[in-house]
Amino acid sequence: MRLKKVLYILLALLLIPLSLGIYSYSLPKTFFIPVQDADEKDWNAKSFWYYPWGNSVTHKGVDIFAKKGKPVLAATSGMVIKKGEGGNGGKFVVVLGPNMVLHYYAHLDSYTVSSGDRVKAGEQIGTVGNTGNAQGKAPHLHYSMVDILPRFSRADTAIQGKRKMWYRNPIPYLKYEKSF
Ligand SMILES: [Zn+2]
Repeated sequence: MRLKKVLYILLALLLIPLSLGIYSYSLPKTFFIPVQDADEKDWNAKSFWYYPWGNSVTHKGVDIFAKKGKPVLAATSGMVIKKGEGGNGGKFVVVLGPNMVLHYYAHLDSYTVSSGDRVKAGEQIGTVGNTGNAQGKAPHLHYSMVDILPRFSRADTAIQGKRKMWYRNPIPYLKYEKSF
């Protein structure tokens, strides 16, 4: 009995990442700017890996400024892995998108999705706010793209540069709405 249980757990440990991987790679590669009506003047083109950046040391994403309550849209299709609240991000949503990349949307004022939901690129997932460490600052979406499988070639000699193997620069995606 006990052995069977162990085998089931091992099988689950193998199958869950495998099925998530297959799911992720099968998703459409379209990319949307994740705040409704936002364009280049709403973010700073040099803000990725900006230093110094408070507790975080470097800025591992981009901030897209908009009025509180503006719809936050899924940048890509995918599955809501986590919806949570607390810490620097305040109210946040994490979506697994194409090519095993996680999309992190933070400082939300409200959510319109739940964990486990499937979303399409451009579909609303919440609204812009200033929760977490953005409290008292201008409302904005903090958006990060995180590779589950590290890209060692992206690591460089910048401050915390080794961590770039995990973080993609979202700005070229925003600027060109380039697909994956
Ligand atoms: Zn930010």
